[in-house]
Amino acid sequence: MARVALMPARQYLEECFTSPEMRSLMAFFAMQTKTSLDQPGSAFGMVELPWSHAGGVTRARGGMSAVCDAIVRALEESGGTVLRDSHVGEVIIRGGCAVGVRTADGQEIGARRAVISAVSPVRTFTRLIDPDQLDPAFLRRVRSIQIDNTGVIKCFYALDEAPVFSESGDDGSNRGFRTAAGMLCPSVDHADTMWRYIRDRRLPTKIGWSWCTHTSTLDPSLAPAGKHTLGLHVWVPVELADGGTWDARAKETMAMRLLDEYTRCAPNVKDALIAWTARSPTDYEELMDNPNGNMNHVDYTPHQAFGFRPLPELSDYRTPIEGLYLSGAGMHPGPAVTGLPGHNTAQVVLSDLE
Ligand SMILES: Cc1cc2nc3c(=O)[nH]c(=O)nc-3n(C[C@H](O)[C@H](O)[C@H](O)COP(=O)(O)OP(=O)(O)OC[C@H]3O[C@@H](n4cnc5c(N)ncnc54)[C@H](O)[C@@H]3O)c2cc1C
Repeated sequence: MARVALMPARQYLEECFTSPEMRSLMAFFAMQTKTSLDQPGSAFGMVELPWSHAGGVTRARGGMSAVCDAIVRALEESGGTVLRDSHVGEVIIRGGCAVGVRTADGQEIGARRAVISAVSPVRTFTRLIDPDQLDPAFLRRVRSIQIDNTGVIKCFYALDEAPVFSESGDDGSNRGFRTAAGMLCPSVDHADTMWRYIRDRRLPTKIGWSWCTHTSTLDPSLAPAGKHTLGLHVWVPVELADGGTWDARAKETMAMRLLDEYTRCAPNVKDALIAWTARSPTDYEELMDNPNGNMNHVDYTPHQAFGFRPLPELSDYRTPIEGLYLSGAGMHPGPAVTGLPGHNTAQVVLSDLE
């Protein structure tokens, strides 16, 4: 296991698989950690992703916002208050202790017991805390946490009919194909081309992989009667070469490249397209305030996983500021909608309050 975790994915693929289909599927898993197939440690994702999905995958009826709504309801039922559309501008620190937050519009909210930051640890220490409160050597280590130039573009398509995977013998009635999620893994060659373009900060001409979501297939409430949704996402460079920006044209280029690759499996989708929209890494940064729009808050690599996430000295969810704790995707066990970083932080806070 340790050997696999340290290996470049390509070596593992060549050692263990002969069929091109299996190699591209396993490459798909490896690339989920935002690593090319030659990076040492890139085989990590091949183990991590199937393992973390082994217990099955569930989806909230009504879409992912239903999960947030349920959490808010639970909190409010326990007497809590949730301020939506309110941005924290600063963690208030007095006498070395976190005693509250100040919102961007100047409102001060005191904390009787603890302040928990579930935004990127890098943003927490570099934007929300007065640098005079932090040891310069610690701050330097935080600033050097890896958040590379690879981001995500997610494209959303409205369809007149559900995808039919006729290239694989589907006629639209085979229940085996009517899943909410699919994995597009064209080939190892496609993956290599994609990474070359990402390294050169250009829009990939080949789609190395894509998660495909057909959520309306299982949850018709997500689309008008008879219509369907399709989501496709893939890695892209955050900053583009030659002063390029993630403007409407760049988004359209990637949205159509993704759709072209997808329609090689489900050709009916091209004529069924009603409308599309896309979120680029820049859109995600604006929307979520994660550095580089990074959905993982900090890169998820072997040197930033488990007890090293995001740094060894922060991995127990405590910080050098008394009363300030960390949570969210930047903490162990990392990204994805698991609730586990929150659970772990809660255990630490509760034990400190005892
Ligand atoms: C395209 C895409 C597809 C994905 N697919 C999957 C999937 O299939 N399965 C899966 O499990 N995961 C998936 N993920 C990953 C998953 O969405 C994230 O890992 C998860 O949302 C992390 O949750 P979080 O609460 O830690 O952080 P986030 O979801 O990043 O939430 C952080 C929140 O903090 C807010 N915030 C930031 N700064 C401040 C501030 N200063 N003050 C107040 N609020 C602030 C942000 O607006 C945001 O709402 C996907 C992500 C993306 C982008």
